[in-house]
Amino acid sequence: MRIQLTDKAKQILESIYYNRPEIKINYQIDDKLEKQTGALGQHEIDDKTGDSIIIIDAKHITEQVITHELLHCYMYSAKYPKLRVLNFENDIINFVATHVENVIAHKIIQRKQDLLGIDTEDFNKKFAYSLGENITYEPNEFERQFKFSFKILDAEIRCKNIECNYKNAIMNKFPTSYGIFTQIYTEIINYDFYTPFEYRRAMIKILRVCENILFNNGFKIEFNRAIATEFVPSKRQLTLRVDQIFDFKPSINEFNDEKGYVLMSKSENQACYFINKVNTEEKERLAKKTLISFFDDLNIKYSVR
Ligand SMILES: [Zn+2]
Repeated sequence: MRIQLTDKAKQILESIYYNRPEIKINYQIDDKLEKQTGALGQHEIDDKTGDSIIIIDAKHITEQVITHELLHCYMYSAKYPKLRVLNFENDIINFVATHVENVIAHKIIQRKQDLLGIDTEDFNKKFAYSLGENITYEPNEFERQFKFSFKILDAEIRCKNIECNYKNAIMNKFPTSYGIFTQIYTEIINYDFYTPFEYRRAMIKILRVCENILFNNGFKIEFNRAIATEFVPSKRQLTLRVDQIFDFKPSINEFNDEKGYVLMSKSENQACYFINKVNTEEKERLAKKTLISFFDDLNIKYSVR
């Protein structure tokens, strides 16, 4: 079976090639994707080649799923900033990094699908109504409640324009998770973000709220240091020196004892890059570079605000 692209999908493809003419997109159909991951589609990046890989579940080769994955690829081609973690072994840091990026990206994807007139209503409703179906009671542990609140957040973002009364059921069955969801959602409900710069700011907002919620429940994690979000400079900042924009804070990767630095943006006190295996001399050299040559030398992809 081959993947046929509709006109709307081709429109997205055009903007991808406009951003990155050299990009290769590799389409795959998988018989077991939904069974194994619960996802109908998936977008991955080949680390070596930078190619894009779109995997679609064999039973869901639909315009909704294909355009959704193509829009993930579009965000990659437009160099929307990514979240990164220094240490992978902390489950809650990993969870927050992955899910914050995911829900914020889905807000952008949903908006673009709406603009293109792609009907995702049934598709999203199905997702929202199946939420928590397999769970009888709300779990007692805070960690599980916190994690479930991101499922509600994802559903709410996708269903924003839909009359959905799945919410009452969720609110009654998962009151604590719903409360956490409300705290996070309030931060972004009135805030529209489209550009990579605004997208990054939205991610930082949610990271701050999560840090607070977790702190009040006994998890003391400084997300501004533990999770890095790439920098989206202005044109003017590209010509500034790296140490005018970032503070270099020493870091140790507990996982492999590697010493390096966290580059914290001075204006936001937010980690932007983790630089590993760098000694003091190299650090001094990096600090004196202009931002643009720093990006070029380290092969860091960036977009300009
Ligand atoms: Zn997605």
